[in-house]
Formats: sequence, structure tokens, C-alpha cells
Amino acid sequence: MFTGFNNIKYPEYEVITPQTHLSFTVRSLNVQEEENMKGSLMTPVKVTEHLNKCIYDVIVKKPDIITDFKDFLKQVTLKDRDALLYGLYHITYEEIRNYDVRCGTCKKEYPITVKASDMFSFNPYPGNDVLTKTVKVDLQISKGITAYIKQPSLQDEIDTLKSLVTLKGTNLDAVTQTLIVDRFEQDIQDQAKPNVFSERYDILEAFKSLPAKDRRLINRSYIDHFGNYGIELKMKSFCSSCGSEEIISVDLVENFFRMVYTVWWNIILQKNIGRKYFQLHWINQAGLHRDCFNAS
Ligand SMILES: [Zn+2]
Repeated sequence: MFTGFNNIKYPEYEVITPQTHLSFTVRSLNVQEEENMKGSLMTPVKVTEHLNKCIYDVIVKKPDIITDFKDFLKQVTLKDRDALLYGLYHITYEEIRNYDVRCGTCKKEYPITVKASDMFSFNPYPGNDVLTKTVKVDLQISKGITAYIKQPSLQDEIDTLKSLVTLKGTNLDAVTQTLIVDRFEQDIQDQAKPNVFSERYDILEAFKSLPAKDRRLINRSYIDHFGNYGIELKMKSFCSSCGSEEIISVDLVENFFRMVYTVWWNIILQKNIGRKYFQLHWINQAGLHRDCFNAS
């Protein structure tokens, strides 16, 4: 009868979070945990909760200010989670296998395999106020309207998802894009105080009504003040068909799920039937960064 291996030692890896400057040590996923991940991709809320729990469970050393899972959600930002996920990925898989790159010149797709650590770069946030700072952005097209931009924590993300994605007809992409908005304010003539919209539903509706240019301004402000600080997985590759050089940026959340979920991923992505699937939308959450990036 199997009663457990004697002293099995999982590989460990130290991660310094880029935005909150905390030090965590994570260990490799085991087979059971990897299997658990596969069962979790049901709804965006479940996926997010599961991902956060999974990361928390493999932390073997954490800073003193984090005593439980609740603290973890409040003290860690989405960008910090990318770094933790990188650590987990690095120590569990190391290689990013068969990542499909589309050539910008000839448009053909070709797979690359690369060590995650070879692509890694780290840009720390300068300061200790990432969780409390808000940036005032006066919208250019919508005169008199101000957006207050922040860096969302894991708690902000889960609260927002819980309050919004169960609403019928809610577009998850839009929901995740509004995570960076703390509130909107509108100055009204002959009124001493501005109208304030700080409920998640109001923020989502307000966001959707903005002119496209104002959204780009919001995204750019986020990138400048918060989004630039984090980890990045970037490398140069050369197209196998035409030889063109390409700078590839690997999305870790996406790739993480691709690794633990290869079969599903192939069904969803390659047959391209997955647009309705929540999980794909959720994976697109990383599109928050991509959208912001493209917007500039
Ligand atoms: Zn090419």
C-alpha cells in the first residue's frame, strides 16, 4: 500500500514580485495539482479563484505581512501574479514548447520552443504605493469627465468578476478592461461636487459609452504608470518560411493554461470553435495588457 514517498523534495524557485516587492518561494506543481487545474476551467470566476488558490498552495515561503489567502489576494497585483506564474512555470515546465508565432511579413505560422528563462526580463515598479496610488486622467474627447486609474489587485479582479460576469450579456473582455478604472467623475455646471461613478457596474457602463480615443488614453495612462512594471517574456525569432525577424512576446497566463490544458486548447483554438467558451475569454484577460500595448 502506498503511504507516501519518503521525503520527496519538489524543486523550488524564489520570486520577487515586480510591483509590491514581496519575496515568495514557490515549488513545482505536482501531478494532482496539474490535474486539478484541468477541472477548473468552467467559469471565469472559478478559473480565477482556482488559479489564485493554485499559486497560493505552492508557496513554500512568503513574507510576514501575508498570513492567509485573503491577505494574499489583497497584497498581490495582477502583474505580481504574472511573476509568480512565471516562477511556477519555470520550476514546473521550464520550456515553452511549440508556441505558435505568426510571421508579420508572410503571415505563415511556425512553432518555436524556448526556455522561459531565456526570454525573461523584469522591470520593477519604482515606489511602494502601487496598491494605493490612483492616477487622474482628464479625458480628451469627453470633456469634463475624469477617469481615476489604478493597478488592480487579485481581490479587485475577483470582486469585479463576481459582480459582473453573471449578468446576462456581459462582455468579459470589457469587464477585464475596466479593472484598471477606480472610478469616473463628471463635473456638472452649477454643482459643487462632481458626479462619482464607482460601482463596478456603473464603471463598466460608463466605460462602454466612451469614445474610442478616450479608452486609448485610459489604457496608455495605465501602461505608463503601472503596466510597464512587471515581467516580460520576449525574444527574437526568425520565420521558418521567409526568414523575417520577429520580436515575440509570450503571454504567460495563456501559455500556462496551454501547457496544463493542451488537449482542450487544441480543440478550442485550432478548430476555432471556442469563441463562446468562457475560458477562452478569460484567457484573453491577458489581452488587457495586449490591448493596452496595441493601443499606443
Ligand atoms: Zn515569414
